[in-house]
Amino acid sequence: MPLKASYGNYLTCPMCDVEVPLAGDEKTGEQVFCPYCQTPLLLKRTKTDDYYLEEDF
Ligand SMILES: [Zn+2]
Repeated sequence: MPLKASYGNYLTCPMCDVEVPLAGDEKTGEQVFCPYCQTPLLLKRTKTDDYYLEEDF
């Protein structure tokens, strides 16, 4: 199941609300960095298959 269709190419940073660009092949649990505030973020998935980012301090 391709992730790309589920979250598009952007998810919102929980720290600064900027849109974080994603390549589309990231996996759940993968770490990405917000390009604006440099916060390490984990890609998470809800039970309803929605993807979101969570701070990973
Ligand atoms: Zn941010």
